[in-house]
Amino acid sequence: MIARQPMLEHDPRERIRNFDEVALGYDAERAVLEAERCLQCENPTCMKGCPVNIDIPGFIAHIKEGNFDLAIRKIKEKNHLPAICGRVCPVKDQCEKFCVLAKKGEPVAIGNLERFASDYEWKKGVEIPRKAEASGKRVAIAGSGPAGLTAAADLVKLGHEVTIFEALHVPGGVLTYGIPEFRLPKKVVEREVEYIKRLGVDIRTDMVIGRTITADELLRQGFDAIFVGTGAGPPQFLGVPGENLGLVYSANEFLTRVNLMQAYEFPEYDTPIKVGKKVAVIGAGNVAFDAARTALRLGARDVSIVYRRSEEEIPARIEEVHHAEEEGVKLRLLTLPTRMLGEGGLVRRMECIKMSLGKPDESGRRRPIPVKGSEFYIDTDTVIVAIGRKPNPLIQQTTEGLKTTSWGTIVADDFGQTSRSGIFAGGDVVTGEATVIEAMGAGKRAAEAIDRFIKQRKKH
Ligand SMILES: Cc1cc2nc3c(=O)[nH]c(=O)nc-3n(C[C@H](O)[C@H](O)[C@H](O)COP(=O)(O)OP(=O)(O)OC[C@H]3O[C@@H](n4cnc5c(N)ncnc54)[C@H](O)[C@@H]3O)c2cc1C
Ligand code: SF4
Repeated sequence: MIARQPMLEHDPRERIRNFDEVALGYDAERAVLEAERCLQCENPTCMKGCPVNIDIPGFIAHIKEGNFDLAIRKIKEKNHLPAICGRVCPVKDQCEKFCVLAKKGEPVAIGNLERFASDYEWKKGVEIPRKAEASGKRVAIAGSGPAGLTAAADLVKLGHEVTIFEALHVPGGVLTYGIPEFRLPKKVVEREVEYIKRLGVDIRTDMVIGRTITADELLRQGFDAIFVGTGAGPPQFLGVPGENLGLVYSANEFLTRVNLMQAYEFPEYDTPIKVGKKVAVIGAGNVAFDAARTALRLGARDVSIVYRRSEEEIPARIEEVHHAEEEGVKLRLLTLPTRMLGEGGLVRRMECIKMSLGKPDESGRRRPIPVKGSEFYIDTDTVIVAIGRKPNPLIQQTTEGLKTTSWGTIVADDFGQTSRSGIFAGGDVVTGEATVIEAMGAGKRAAEAIDRFIKQRKKH
């Protein structure tokens, strides 16, 4: 049996000095070898784990035969952003988890093969598929993250006229402002967005729906349906004393400065960023690990992840935890900050308490409980808070009759139908923070429902 093919990576000692992509991808020889590991199951269980339903054995068979053009065509029947999914999907919890080979050993490296096929296509030149005949119907999409981009691409291929309205000056959502260059190069996001534009989607930036124009106004202006894919934006804080001291950042602000505004190239780019030598990042999701690894690349010497649960409960992608540890990020587990203390307005120390784990809570993970009398201090000169984000609230607040949950997410069924006829929603704004592929799956299902809705209206 052929062993799972590893991906080449930059050396950790070198890579923490720059923002270059860490993983280098497969060459054709390795991709074919890896594809040969796939058993071409008649009942491919791997597909159960893919929210956009890619024909996984189908595209892998083409790679095995060396027919990379057919491989990428097969993937793109279902997935418009494969270069992105191949890099950031938590495959160990999705398609690869369900691969039959995972039962006894290493699953087929489905994500790496998807990345290979899409990178191959970009070197060679991208094919633009044919669209259906123009329907004369118009759809507005709020937000250009993976949910909005996917819904837009599917709808434009069905012949509808699609306009995306994006609040920021660059499209891509978290792919652009959140996930750093060393995991997802911005040129990869740009080229995937370029593909969506070439399909015929009109993207208008600097347009905040609910401020620049409301959802109801868009419907009055003649849009036949709206898809809301505004994601999760505003950060949560711990609510402890001292959290407003200087050099306490939300991960959102920290990452936006670096990724979207390119503050790591200050003063060439005019947005500054300041990071000290001893950085504490609170939280252990992808966002926390991205912030920690970014701080290292900005020159911090000592970076730790401060997490109230244990290693077993860490929610970030396994690969990224491994990469962070290789780069020297330390884990301070079972630790909760209770107070931040400063000097001259800047943070200097955090008072923390040790935690122990009790019975599982509603999230299914064991509940952390403070250990009495275990208070201690961590010296730090920069704190980055990465404990979660709430849904963007603007459209919910300005759209009459749009039902929301107590958490602020929009209430929608599996096909994105909200409490308002003609308004659909999907991605993080419905589920709360989740994953790129789940947001894409939601965009896809909503596009199907919007298409049905528009066609039914035609009959009246
Ligand atoms: C730092 C970080 C790292 C992550 N790493 C991973 C990972 O490795 N793998 C993974 O699968 N997932 C990861 N995630 C989660 C993933 O990125 C999200 O689940 C996904 O992007 C959600 O997609 P979305 O389209 O719903 O929303 P978003 O990507 O949040 O996009 C929403 C867009 O809507 C815009 N918008 C908001 N309000 C308005 C408005 N009123 N009008 C117009 N536009 C508006 C926003 O500016 C944004 O561009 C990460 C998230 C972060 C923050
Ligand atoms: S389950 Fe694994 S071996 Fe079977 S078709 Fe899918 S990728 Fe190939």
